[in-house]
Amino acid sequence: MILAAHPHSVWLTSARAARVFPPLASDLQIEVAIIGGGFTGLAAAYHLTRSGVSCAVLEAHDIGWGASGRNGGMAVLRYKTPWATLAHRHGENAARRLHQLLLDAVDTLESTVEELRIDCSFSRPGHITAANSRSALAMLDADMHWLAAMGDRTPRMLGPEEAAALAGTRCYMGGYLDPRAGGLHPLNYARGLADGLAGRGVRVFSGTAATAIREDARSVNVATEGGTVRAQQLLICSNAYTELFPLGTDLHRRVVPVSTSVITTAPLPDALLRALLPQGHLVSDTRHLLNYFRIAPGNRLLFGGRGSLTGRESPEVYHGLERRLFETFPALEGVAVDHRWSGKVAVTLDDFPHIGRLSPRIAYALGYGGRGVALTNLLGKMLATLARAMDVDAGPMSSGPFAPIPLHALRIPAMKAVAGYYRLLDALRI
Ligand SMILES: Cc1cc2nc3c(=O)[nH]c(=O)nc-3n(C[C@H](O)[C@H](O)[C@H](O)COP(=O)(O)OP(=O)(O)OC[C@H]3O[C@@H](n4cnc5c(N)ncnc54)[C@H](O)[C@@H]3O)c2cc1C
Repeated sequence: MILAAHPHSVWLTSARAARVFPPLASDLQIEVAIIGGGFTGLAAAYHLTRSGVSCAVLEAHDIGWGASGRNGGMAVLRYKTPWATLAHRHGENAARRLHQLLLDAVDTLESTVEELRIDCSFSRPGHITAANSRSALAMLDADMHWLAAMGDRTPRMLGPEEAAALAGTRCYMGGYLDPRAGGLHPLNYARGLADGLAGRGVRVFSGTAATAIREDARSVNVATEGGTVRAQQLLICSNAYTELFPLGTDLHRRVVPVSTSVITTAPLPDALLRALLPQGHLVSDTRHLLNYFRIAPGNRLLFGGRGSLTGRESPEVYHGLERRLFETFPALEGVAVDHRWSGKVAVTLDDFPHIGRLSPRIAYALGYGGRGVALTNLLGKMLATLARAMDVDAGPMSSGPFAPIPLHALRIPAMKAVAGYYRLLDALRI
């Protein structure tokens, strides 16, 4: 099999050297097989090995090749849906549970970094949700009040002046700051996790695509080019890349893979970068087609947003992002852009990731949208629990409906229509 290269991301060019994990070259018997060497699969392996369960990770390309090695590295404490709406839709108790799960997710990420001593620049600079419209500001304010009413008084609102001072731009009407959010170097985190696992005896195979799954009375068997893995349990952690090898399940039709793209500026003078993000906050806005930014290695500004709807990379997508970058930060006009890359997020109908079982031997967790940096650690941990024949409670993420999406084959025209509608709403600041 030919390994696809990592994209030319700022994470790749600043990453520590990768340990070489050879492909599987013979049959293997193991307690738990894991498909996917991103944050979810690696987190599941980490928690299994802490419980003394043997496992093997099968990654089609290189460790962290999927979204995990190329994302914005922002572990944010919000779901896509506002808190007040979640409480209205799912009830107060479910919304409280969802809130606790997010806190647990970032704590799990932090304790993993600490326990495995992963050098991935993890810190908690805090995250600003910057409001593009009055209605967004009102929504953020309602969120802050909902959280305060249930005892969480940590997030606070920013007025327009403070938002401008902290986010380096006058584009926003104010914002919502959660100081607990974390940032990290995602490829170094994925590589550090894999190194830590290998040090604890986990078998990690790169260049090893699972091409078929077959269950019999005593095991689940995963076919790869180099051999068959015979396991008691299988965890599917292929997220937006599930369509690479659908494996005979319907999981690839339960999510819509959507491209998102990122650029970085060339290195900026210290004083300029300090003027933009003086306290190193992570920022994302409230547009339907949102943008986000943060400081990246080498004194760069990283800026992300919507990618190509067809999934094919095109210069127009990057030109569009550059235009948005310079509109947001006029002081950067003329600064060179030195990294451009794209990746896929897995979108679900209810905007939640989902965790569950396909059969008593096969479990999955996928569908994080753009919110997987923290949640993958929690759902990976819960997958390890499922593999040990226990149940998990991830609120609507484990109990909500998660069926194949009707008319999945028509997703690209549908996305084009939705993107056009969202562009209109964003232009009208609704
Ligand atoms: C550009 C970008 C920016 C993002 N920014 C953020 C952010 O700032 N904050 C945030 O919270 N989230 C962000 N996300 C989302 C986040 O990266 C993902 O939710 C998370 O990384 C998903 O991890 P995962 O392990 O489930 O999937 P992935 O990391 O995508 O890993 C899945 C792996 O499975 C492998 N695979 C697939 N099929 C097979 C098979 N049959 N056999 C073997 N291997 C297989 C793939 O090769 C892939 O490596 C971003 C995503 C992108 C693309």
